[in-house]
Amino acid sequence: MQLLQDRIRKDGKIKEGNVLKVDSFLNHQMDIQLFEEIGKEFKRRFEGEKINKILTIEASGIGIACVVAQSFGVPVVFAKKNQTKNIAGDVYTTKVESFTHGRVYDIIVAKEFLGKGDRVLLIDDFLANGMALEGLAELVQLSGAELVGAGIVIEKGFQQGGDLLRSQGIRIESLAIIDSMNEKTGEIVFRD
Ligand code: 5GP
Repeated sequence: MQLLQDRIRKDGKIKEGNVLKVDSFLNHQMDIQLFEEIGKEFKRRFEGEKINKILTIEASGIGIACVVAQSFGVPVVFAKKNQTKNIAGDVYTTKVESFTHGRVYDIIVAKEFLGKGDRVLLIDDFLANGMALEGLAELVQLSGAELVGAGIVIEKGFQQGGDLLRSQGIRIESLAIIDSMNEKTGEIVFRD
C-alpha cells in the first residue's frame, strides 16, 4: 500500500533492537484518515470472504481494528492481557511472549464473545516474531470459531512471524512488508 509506505518512510523512526517507531500516526497519535484507507484496503483484500467478527489484542491493535471494522460492518473483540476476577472461568486463554516488552503474559477472551459459527479476521499493527498473532489464532481455535485470516499493517519481513504463520496455513495480508531497515542510515527497504 503506497500511501502507508510513504508515511512510514516520512515519519517512521528506526530504533535499536529492530523496533520501528510509528508513534506519530499509528501507535500513539493516530491518523484516522489513514486508518480509513487501511480499512478499505483490508476490505478489498478480503472481498468475498464471510467475516462477522474482528479480533485484535490490546492495546495498540484496538484503534486500527475499530476503524477496519467499520469497513466490514462487524463488531470488534479485543483480547485482554490480564485476567480479571469477574470473568474468571468463562474465558478462553493462552500465553503470549511480548516482542517489545520481552515477557510472557496471558491473553483472554470471554467465551460469550467468540465461538462456533463465528468467522474471524485478526487485525494487528505489527507482525514481528508472530507470537501475538499466534496467540490470537489459538484463541479462535479454542473457541471453535473459524479463522478467515489476518490483516497486518506493518510486517517486519526479516523476522520469522510471517513465514511461521503462513506455513501453518494462515492467510496473512500485510499492507507494508519491510525487508530490511538500517538504524544508522534510516534506510527502509519494502518488499514489492
Ligand atoms: P510479535 O508477537 O509478532 O513478535 O510482535 C507483535 C506485537 O509486538 C505487535 O502487536 C506490536 O505491538 C509489537 N511490535 C513488534 N514489533 C514492533 C515494532 O517494530 N514497533 C512497534 N511499535 N511495535 C512492535
